[in-house]
Amino acid sequence: MSGSMHTREEIQSKLRTIMERIDAVCKRTDKKTTLVAVSKTKPVEMIQWAHEAGCRNFGENYAQEFRDKTAELSDVTDLRWHFIGSLQRNKVRYVVGKAVLIHSVGTVSLLDAIQSRAARADIVQDILVEVNLAGEPSKSGLSEAELPSMLAQFADRPNVRCLGLMTMPPFFADPEASRPYFVRLRELRDDLRPRFGGNVDLTHLSMGMTADFEVAIEEGATLIRVGTAIFGPRGT
Ligand SMILES: *Cc1c(COP(=O)(O)O)cnc(C)c1O
Repeated sequence: MSGSMHTREEIQSKLRTIMERIDAVCKRTDKKTTLVAVSKTKPVEMIQWAHEAGCRNFGENYAQEFRDKTAELSDVTDLRWHFIGSLQRNKVRYVVGKAVLIHSVGTVSLLDAIQSRAARADIVQDILVEVNLAGEPSKSGLSEAELPSMLAQFADRPNVRCLGLMTMPPFFADPEASRPYFVRLRELRDDLRPRFGGNVDLTHLSMGMTADFEVAIEEGATLIRVGTAIFGPRGT
């Protein structure tokens, strides 16, 4: 890597800035949230730098990349890996048991693949159900209408546990444009929470990225997923 955007100092100072912005919103609104630093496509040394600066939760989108990075950093025992991308059923083995949380489960068939892998490993895999609130065809996640029946599927799948909901609204330049989606995810969570029990515990809301994480915290995000603001733009 070269260029000033990729030095240890640069990454660590960007991370500190983000942590300060998160603290400021949390103090002002009396809320708590967890930063998931989205390191997809970025080298493991950047993850190590962010870890040195106090970051513990990292999010990856691609199953093979997840597998390779978790293996490479397996000696760093306090890293918490999140899987946030679309996951193919034939790659669940790279992720199940390694991710503390899979944020992006939007189909029963994926849920089944995770359940059977987790059963073989004799573990319980924590996941979030992804909701596609805007109905964008390019994005994964199920519709609001499908959410109750998806949550009902957990009852006879003892090796998965649903800890909440995740969403990714359409991209807007104005962060305020994301707010209605964040409000809607919170309302859905609040409506559905008392209707489910057992291995469905709708505590978490994973929402908010570089452009809109402050708005997401205001609306109750317990997990925010921030990449670009910490690690710089991707694909350059
Ligand atoms: C890439 C990605 C992010 C991070 O996006 P930034 O705009 O870089 O902060 C968050 N969530 C998901 C699901 C992503 O794919």
